[in-house]
Amino acid sequence: MKFGGTSVEDPAAIGRTAAIVAGRVSAGKRPVVVVSAMAKVTDQLLRAGEAAAQGDRTGALAISSRLRSRHRDTASDLVKNVADLADLLSFIDQKFDSLDEVLRGLSAILELTPRISDLIVSYGERISSRIVAAAFREKSIDAAHVDAREVIITDSQFQKATPLDDVIEKKAAEKLHPLLAQGKVPVMGGFIGSNEAGITTTLGRGGSDFTGALVGGALPSESIEIWTDVDGIMTSDPRVCPDALRVKVISFEEAAELAYFGAKVLHPATILPAVKKNIPVYVLNSRNAACEGTQITSLAPHCNSPFKSIAVKKKLSIIDVVASRMLMTHGYMKAIFDIFDKHRCPVDMVSTSEVSVSLTVDSNDKLPLIAADLSKLADVKYEGKKALVCMVGDNIRGQSGIAAQVFSAIRHVNVRMISQGASEINMSFMIEEDDADEAVRSLHAAFFKDPDPSIFDVDARKAAIGS
Ligand code: ADP
Ligand code: ASP
Ligand code: MG
Repeated sequence: MKFGGTSVEDPAAIGRTAAIVAGRVSAGKRPVVVVSAMAKVTDQLLRAGEAAAQGDRTGALAISSRLRSRHRDTASDLVKNVADLADLLSFIDQKFDSLDEVLRGLSAILELTPRISDLIVSYGERISSRIVAAAFREKSIDAAHVDAREVIITDSQFQKATPLDDVIEKKAAEKLHPLLAQGKVPVMGGFIGSNEAGITTTLGRGGSDFTGALVGGALPSESIEIWTDVDGIMTSDPRVCPDALRVKVISFEEAAELAYFGAKVLHPATILPAVKKNIPVYVLNSRNAACEGTQITSLAPHCNSPFKSIAVKKKLSIIDVVASRMLMTHGYMKAIFDIFDKHRCPVDMVSTSEVSVSLTVDSNDKLPLIAADLSKLADVKYEGKKALVCMVGDNIRGQSGIAAQVFSAIRHVNVRMISQGASEINMSFMIEEDDADEAVRSLHAAFFKDPDPSIFDVDARKAAIGS
């Protein structure tokens, strides 16, 4: 059971989380609990690190001090047993004391390396998981805190480390199985891990979902539950499209595609460990635990609607490489991709013509360097502030007229690149970032007017219209 930042954001949220876990335990389940940092804490820790590295020691320590108070207040609110609370507060103070030391050091060194950044953000999950474990014990759940860095062993690619599955499986057997055998509920932080030398790493932003799936896969477990602040995977981000519907069931492939192309509700790598072991994943709402959420399974049932959901990935750049003579010569594409490889920059979408190649990538500070390397091969232009809209469904390729419907729904929007057919289940296109939200709403209105009730929760929409 993985609980995201909003599910542990304050004492009330942690109380709801405890009640959900207690429910599972009394139903005879033996859960392992993975928690994120409290909502917004990772962002604030990063800001503190950046401030310190820019020499703003006072600003960095002020952020840390506000975070210390927030965690202390949450602990005091939840833990009434005097000795337990004293223990927890002393742990919190110790951690913030060492964080402050790191921040002071940074403000002298003035350089924030990926390794130090991982150390700084790790405090979020290290502390939240201790608070949650103590709060569980207060509610009579026999919880045992586990330091995630002793289980999630990764390579040394700081800020986006790759987990070492075999080692994790061994560590899970060593650290988690004995606790489960004693009837305890292990509670650990998501997102963080350590390399084989014991140095703290992280799995990338949003990585607690990944931890949940890694642990679920390593045990292995009967199911993996991702508890968040929405009713499940929806037909689009409900913050952008308020009439989004819950998708009741979706396939691993569709969910992975959605996650990769921007549906923040799941970390893109989450599904892999579950697919390998064929473990169903559920996305559930900790604010509405009675809702059955979304089930992600290896084979989703047939759906009459062409699409299941629309995802958007923003902050992208488009790179145009134009070479009149060489493009289709043997080895030319390889030369282009070697440059992206050298800069470890993933490419999302590619489109070619006789003289040019257009590629889309996450906007990042390596772009000028990449462009400089590419310009040795051809003329290069790049432009930021683009968004990729990705429509996912298992039934696109066989249906005629779908592309016409998609582009007529957004005929007022300038489309820069299109990709269809690379995957049977995904149709995507690139537009200006400023057009993205409106385009999603138009597409949603066009494709989810009459949704298949076996796949989508249409009752919720009817209830909303009725009220
Ligand atoms: P957590 O802290 O629980 O990991 P996140 O903020 O990472 O939560 O992810 C949940 C958020 O993802 C939702 O609040 C919602 O705004 C956003 N989201 C984006 N696309 C979708 C989608 N297709 N379905 C559901 N939520 C989505
Ligand atoms: N706390 C981390 C983040 O905000 C990981 C997570 O919440 O999944 O990115
Ligand atoms: Mg998340």
